[in-house]
Amino acid sequence: MLQISQRINSLAASATLAMSQRSNELRARGVDVINLSVGEPDFNTPDFIKDAAKKAIDENFTFYSPVAGYMSLRKAICENMKATEGVDFKPEQIVVSGGAKQALCNVILSTINPGDEVVIPTPAWVSYVEMVKLAEGVTVTVPATIEQDFKITPAQLREAITPRTRMVLICSPSNPTGSVYTREELEGLVDVLKDYPQILVLSDEIYRHINFTGSYTSMATFKEIADRTVVINGVSKAYAMTGWRIGFMAGPLSIAKACTKLQGQYTSGSSSIAQKAAEAAYTGPQDCVEDMRKAFERRRDLVVELASQIPGLKVNKPQGAFYLFPEVSSFIGKRFGDREIKSSGDLTMYLLEEAHVATVDGAAFCLPGYIRLSYATSDELIKEALRRIANALAALTD
Ligand code: PMP
Ligand code: GLU
Repeated sequence: MLQISQRINSLAASATLAMSQRSNELRARGVDVINLSVGEPDFNTPDFIKDAAKKAIDENFTFYSPVAGYMSLRKAICENMKATEGVDFKPEQIVVSGGAKQALCNVILSTINPGDEVVIPTPAWVSYVEMVKLAEGVTVTVPATIEQDFKITPAQLREAITPRTRMVLICSPSNPTGSVYTREELEGLVDVLKDYPQILVLSDEIYRHINFTGSYTSMATFKEIADRTVVINGVSKAYAMTGWRIGFMAGPLSIAKACTKLQGQYTSGSSSIAQKAAEAAYTGPQDCVEDMRKAFERRRDLVVELASQIPGLKVNKPQGAFYLFPEVSSFIGKRFGDREIKSSGDLTMYLLEEAHVATVDGAAFCLPGYIRLSYATSDELIKEALRRIANALAALTD
């Protein structure tokens, strides 16, 4: 038997990607599955971005790119951040990577030593805890349930911090809940963080443009912690470019240099063609971002309206991203024939097999008793999926 390292054996596979693959397999076998599992915009990448990629090939942007990304792209990112968040970063503080996922992993691997604690408010996106594990760090979760709109309080944050805390990870708008921290709420957290200069603040702002609150505050706008804040973003969600794999970190120069060193040994600069496409995205007309945001807001209203009508489902009103995270504990312990629903994970399997709707177990986001639905799909499919879910849940008996 060939050896697989302890490091990989102890790692959980990505539940979001696994569920999506499962639903694709069922679909390939002819089952009419509606996939609400993976979180990705259903829109095509805008044409002007695709044209920039074609041009990049013709102009021979086909060689290795600088490890941290083309200077022109890093400048475009800085200008975009200045225009949208009002924050000042220099191109040297930006490292472009293979998606926000790699950017996050770069930062965690570059700053966390074995045994260091990373505070993660939960529910949280599936990959954070596993990335911390890769760095041999220790995750300290801070739970926030639907009653507090899935947002942690300053008191909870203070309680979670110990002398070993080296990082706090914030994701707003949140995957999997869609919750968005207001400026006042973030001020409350910053008020705690300013007392702990050894803590790096890692702010995942990948859903920043899919926000229905009418205003947005980037973590990088707080002067008190600006010199130890790293912002993560990318083109996957805002420009419907998940397959292009371009994301970035923006942060202190020393951390940017560390990420560049790691990436230089590991993957090198990201795809030259995708970088030129991302540069077009950041410098071109931005109305596509607003058009998609509006479509997501309309769908949010639809999904909340339909899900709220399903007896037993507890629903909040997400303020951003494209996820609904209803509480489903009232169905746990119920049956469908011989099948007993013992957990939210069992419920997702039941919904997949009986209703042919793919969702993700809240346990994958560190909060069992909930499920995640991605509503980044058409109105017709949202309506049909919610109709199927309602029927399947109604068929459960005590
Ligand atoms: N952060 C969050 C919260 C996400 O939901 C995703 C989506 N996979 C990512 C980061 C990574 O995005 P990508 O690697 O596609 O840029
Ligand atoms: N962020 C998306 C999700 O949570 C994409 C899948 C992934 O990378 O985990 O479903």
